[in-house]
Amino acid sequence: MLIVPEKEIAGLISEAAAFEAVEAVFAAMARGEAVNFPVVREAIGHAEALYGFKSGFDRAGLVLGVKAGGYWPGNMAKGLTNHQSTVFLFDPDTGQASAMVGGNLLTALRTAAAAAVSIKHLARKDAKVLGMLGAGHQSAFQMRAAVRAGNFERVVGWNLHPEMLGRLADTAAELGLPFQAVSLEGLGAEADVIITITSSFAPSLMADMVRPGTHLACMGTDTKGKQEVEAALLAKARVFCDERAQSISIGEAQHAVAAGLIAAGDITEFGAVVAGLAPGRQSDAEITLFDGTGVALQDLAVAARAVALAVERGQVVAVSV
Ligand code: NAD
Repeated sequence: MLIVPEKEIAGLISEAAAFEAVEAVFAAMARGEAVNFPVVREAIGHAEALYGFKSGFDRAGLVLGVKAGGYWPGNMAKGLTNHQSTVFLFDPDTGQASAMVGGNLLTALRTAAAAAVSIKHLARKDAKVLGMLGAGHQSAFQMRAAVRAGNFERVVGWNLHPEMLGRLADTAAELGLPFQAVSLEGLGAEADVIITITSSFAPSLMADMVRPGTHLACMGTDTKGKQEVEAALLAKARVFCDERAQSISIGEAQHAVAAGLIAAGDITEFGAVVAGLAPGRQSDAEITLFDGTGVALQDLAVAARAVALAVERGQVVAVSV
């Protein structure tokens, strides 16, 4: 079995590689070549932790595996990140474990890549202003991947906790783009693309704040009860998702569907757009919204890419089991 520890991931997989891996697996999902299996997520009754498994199989890429991990809220005090995960890959012909891969940075990269792929396929081609709603750990990854995917000239941002906005300013500076902190109204009025990446349980961005032609990538809502945008915004938008079953149960669309504002069938699984099986944006005036909840196949795709790169560069620990 090959081991690629967490500390090696940063030097192995680039944003570009994560983007390619996620884009390809979204298309494979739409062609029915790759499938996510039911997710397990449980409170373990210890350390206030949430622990679970996300697994799947990409028959086209021959990637079989599981991401195990979850959320340990006390970790920050121990100098660790609260989200902890490890990916295990298996030989699809024999079931033998083939690799164990650190999953923390990979999760951040694949989440950012999903939004970036949505920007490539759904945002207006003349989009120039990137709007960031949220300034936590994940926001920097989202901004870097989005800027790679688009043709942005500046970044505007809002965060409930203004003291965190420095992260957005620093990341924009690293990318050579001007950054301006704005109100929520200003965010909606100025941004051509908006990425929402908060852990909020109530909507921040209201439907009437968003201009026609905007593309939104809603990435923070990945649990029942969380919400970042007003449900009415989904009724005004063409809604896309990574996987419909997750979108309507734990994604941003859960609220609009529960309120009867949209039906599950109104939501297009985004891989179909990538694979050329469904239309994406149909006019410059349309609001498009990608509800990215995070699926196992994204994790497995980037983990398999990291293993391949580690093998290529001899940066892998091999153990016999
Ligand atoms: P973080 O804890 O570092 O940051 C949290 C962010 O949410 C901050 O910007 C904070 O100001 C904001 N926030 C907190 N409470 C809020 C409220 N009531 N209203 C508005 N904003 C509020 O978290 P992170 O690592 O940046 O992750 C952000 C979110 O993304 C989390 O909900 C996480 O579960 C989710 N996430 C989703 C995926 C996916 O695949 N979709 C992957 C990774 C993380």
